[in-house]
Amino acid sequence: MPASPESPLEILRDIFGYAEFRGDQLAIIEATLAGRDSLVLMPTGGGKSLCYQIPALIREGTGLVVSPLIALMEDQVQALRELGLDAAYLNSTMTGAEQRAVIERLETGELDLLYVAPERLMQPQTLELLRRVDLSVVAIDEAHCVSQWGHDFRPEYLALSALADAFEGVPRMALTATATPVTRDEIVERLALDDPGIFVASFDRPNIRYAVQSKTDGRRQLKQFIDAHRGEAGIVYCLTRKRVEQTAEWLKNEGFDALPYHAGLAAEIRAENQRRFVTDDAVVIVATIAFGRGIDKPDVRFVAHLDLPKSIESYYQETGRAGRDGEPADAWLVYGLADVVQLRQLVEMSEADEEHKWHERHKLDALLGWCETTACRRRPLLEYFGDVLGGNTPGGDAVGSEMSGGDVSAETRSGCGNCDNCLTPPETFDGTEAAQKLLSAVYRTGQRFGAAHVVDVLLGNATEKVERNGHDTLSVFGIGTDKTQQAWRSVIRQLVVQGFLRVDHGRYGALVLTDESRPLLRGEVEVRFREDPKAVPTKRKARASTAPDELGAEDRIVFDELRELRRRLAAEQGVPPYVIFHDKTLSQIAIDKPQDADALLGISGIGKAKLERYGEQFLEIVRGASAE
Ligand code: ADP
Ligand code: ZN
Repeated sequence: MPASPESPLEILRDIFGYAEFRGDQLAIIEATLAGRDSLVLMPTGGGKSLCYQIPALIREGTGLVVSPLIALMEDQVQALRELGLDAAYLNSTMTGAEQRAVIERLETGELDLLYVAPERLMQPQTLELLRRVDLSVVAIDEAHCVSQWGHDFRPEYLALSALADAFEGVPRMALTATATPVTRDEIVERLALDDPGIFVASFDRPNIRYAVQSKTDGRRQLKQFIDAHRGEAGIVYCLTRKRVEQTAEWLKNEGFDALPYHAGLAAEIRAENQRRFVTDDAVVIVATIAFGRGIDKPDVRFVAHLDLPKSIESYYQETGRAGRDGEPADAWLVYGLADVVQLRQLVEMSEADEEHKWHERHKLDALLGWCETTACRRRPLLEYFGDVLGGNTPGGDAVGSEMSGGDVSAETRSGCGNCDNCLTPPETFDGTEAAQKLLSAVYRTGQRFGAAHVVDVLLGNATEKVERNGHDTLSVFGIGTDKTQQAWRSVIRQLVVQGFLRVDHGRYGALVLTDESRPLLRGEVEVRFREDPKAVPTKRKARASTAPDELGAEDRIVFDELRELRRRLAAEQGVPPYVIFHDKTLSQIAIDKPQDADALLGISGIGKAKLERYGEQFLEIVRGASAE
């Protein structure tokens, strides 16, 4: 579209309306302009799209973007058109006529960017078509989908290695927001990238505050948490469809604009609920993990988990949907013994082969360990991705300097200051004696009973089951009255997570001793437990509207008017409001009160196309406000 080739910086400013590149963006763009393949790892919201969009505009030909998510394609194409660019997608939802129209624009070289799903791309006629035209760059988004051990494996991605030969000389880029060091090598190999530049951004999302609570009454705890987020958009994840339905219903009764989302709902309902979440300001979506992929909403203010996610990787990805706009956001999780038992059971009872189970077990253990940690929560999250807290990001070719996490300086040992453990360091206590009491009770009752019964014995509750089994005559009966039932469950949970106790899923969840138990019973080793905190450190104050905090009362009025205008414009065009301007752009307008087009251009997020299209209408509001 640009008549004469401009520099990357000029394009960033004129078209996208941003003043500076972030992190490695420019280096990535330059590598691509030089014709080099690349692997780009950046967290969600890091700014990956610009890295291929700008080279696509500068290099001769059309940029090809492989993306597995149709909703995301549509979103991106809408956003690019708003910027005055020529973009289109090809997918199975289109009619034959629509597809022909896109193909024609491609053949005449009009298109700046073309988005295609992998299965569509690899069809012989699509490859044939693309060979006839000039391609500027091939970008493979969500590149971690080639990894068989990842949670998003897509077999059709494996075929993409053929692109190396199909489009020789066209630089290829693999981009992803989820990649452990192992997956990185896998991506390079499986996509057959040729000596790629490897760009690893920091995976830290400093604006997200992580907090974990032990579950006493999940709903009440959830309500307490999201009360502080009234008037804001958020996601609540649950494990099962039934819990999704029940929780959504309950939140609705509590006065939240809550909607359910899971794979069992009719497609129209799912689409409508998703649409409402994206276009309205304060919808709480209650969902299974079926929800979230392909959602680009920048102003999600919280992600809550009522049930445990499957792994640290999934957790990072799910919570990464919060705060893409860089504004403060909360990631909150509540979990208890029952969750530990249930997830372990899912792994053990699955039909998968032993190797797969081993991986799943390993991932679950890592997650549980993370939940129980008394140290900073951000550091292990980052280390999981080969990153360090506050460390300098390996950029350019510096991937060789992979962080081992072993020898960390005192400075990086200190926490992030924005997680529950950093904000309110949890108490720990020597749990050896409690552990011995518990393990003895498990042993004396024959390793045949679940947590509830063992706790009854410790507390001296003469239930029918206790009496029937004669457990009221055991020496361990009533030796645990110094703790509450909840505290004992916490002890069991932590013993299971630390490997001192096992849940036997073949025997209805009976607690059994492990090889580690004996030394502990004999007093040869000690354990420490975390004191479950009473409540989350709360936190940011509730807000009536999602206007950023720094706005004063008068600016707030202007902001709300700007937002109303944005809502109207978005509805007219059938696009989500944030495709027009982000909240951040609107609040900057409300604060700066630009009086003319030039001043408006100076605001982050406003480029030439948007200025031309909307500038006057937004200026009118500001001028009206300044005149008063
Ligand atoms: P990702 O694909 O990595 O999740 P996006 O490419 O969608 O992230 O970018 C996230 C947000 O950051 C977008 O709103 C984008 O316009 C914005 N952004 C990207 N690069 C810059 C930049 N250099 N300056 C300001 N905002 C940027
Ligand atoms: Zn921390």
